[in-house]
Amino acid sequence: MAVTEVSQTALVSGHRRRISILGATGSIGTSTIDLVRENPDSFDVSVLTANRSVGELANLAREFRPDVAVVADERGYAELKSLLADTGVEVAAGADALIQAGQQAVDLTVAGIVGAAGLDVTIAAIRQGSAVALANKECLVCAGDLVLEECARAGTTLLPLDSEHNAIFQVFETENAGDVEKLILTASGGPFRTWSREQMVAATPEQAVAHPNWDMGRKISVDSATMMNKGLELIEAAYLFPVAPDDIEVLVHPQSVVHSLVAYTDGSMLAQLGPPDMRVPIAHALAWPARMQTPVARLDLAAIGSLDFEHPDDERFPAIGLARSAFDAGNGSTAVLNAANEVAVESFLNNLIGFLDIARLVSEVLERVEARRISSLDDFRALDDEARAMTETLVKSGS
Ligand code: NAD
Ligand code: MG
Repeated sequence: MAVTEVSQTALVSGHRRRISILGATGSIGTSTIDLVRENPDSFDVSVLTANRSVGELANLAREFRPDVAVVADERGYAELKSLLADTGVEVAAGADALIQAGQQAVDLTVAGIVGAAGLDVTIAAIRQGSAVALANKECLVCAGDLVLEECARAGTTLLPLDSEHNAIFQVFETENAGDVEKLILTASGGPFRTWSREQMVAATPEQAVAHPNWDMGRKISVDSATMMNKGLELIEAAYLFPVAPDDIEVLVHPQSVVHSLVAYTDGSMLAQLGPPDMRVPIAHALAWPARMQTPVARLDLAAIGSLDFEHPDDERFPAIGLARSAFDAGNGSTAVLNAANEVAVESFLNNLIGFLDIARLVSEVLERVEARRISSLDDFRALDDEARAMTETLVKSGS
């Protein structure tokens, strides 16, 4: 079921919403917290999770008094327990505790963990049947079929948080889905939009994470620099909307004001515009199907003056093509693409490989690993492990 076909009654307006924030200490989590703080009468925070940032998680838990605070890395348990000893907040740690936190009954879960590490807990939240606002796009790239099957089974509403997909969700006319000609995903082009390949050879992690428009976590910032982020988003869009992948285009738009477009058969194009601030799409999901106030700076179109658009350069940014081919090849290939990319990005951030090696390694791993079709989470885990191990071997061998 496409996200545009969901029942519009899943979230009832007018009462305080209980929310879980998975990845509360990250960039998406922090933006979500900011909106909750601005609207104290609208939300009760039931669950907060983090990977290792125990001090930050404890401060948030002290402020919002959730039912449970979970640190995924078990080594953080004792410290979190002691920091929250006088609060009555339940403290838990580890992978199983994270999944249990996902099962907590709430009205909406914000899935803001980065990478495949967020898949199991996101599926747990989906199974619990309430709405899930999905930032963690890797869940769909890893196991989109399984995620959507789980949503259909539990009657879960999936709300896209990624700015492009949230934009499309806002302007997609479900009743006219048959008259959608194409989706146009806009892309900032990242920090290396105007760089030659020769310049990119020496690009450093610091340069790659310095995004011109958006303030994001390190992994997605590198994905934006390679434009793999747009490749992952292409796959994300193909799962979320009833549009053939060939009818999903990428358009570079350096100002990041037009967040994506839907083109209809009559020649109309509908777009959503907004400042490059994730609090806008997050607010849309938090309040959906209503709207809520946000403190974001309003767009001043006259001050911006002009908006630019250009086609992406497939030679300098091969990642988009890799993602498109992987999607065409089947759901095992996108899982392999994701695993190889996660390991390659981490290796780049640790100065083990160069910037251009990221897409090269992803391509090589896609050739070497047999991308079997995925029909279960066990299938996914086996393939994910294999692709990670292959990428690590290639990184170590320097090839
Ligand atoms: P981030 O690195 O800033 O935050 C990630 C969060 O997940 C942190 O709270 C961290 O503690 C937690 N986490 C990390 N590894 C974990 C693990 N192994 N187990 C459990 N928790 C773990 O990342 P981000 O920029 O907030 O991105 C989160 C997700 O949202 C990504 O999938 C990203 O692609 C997507 N997204 C982000 C933005 C953005 O503006 N930041 C925009 C669109 C989509
Ligand atoms: Mg995006």
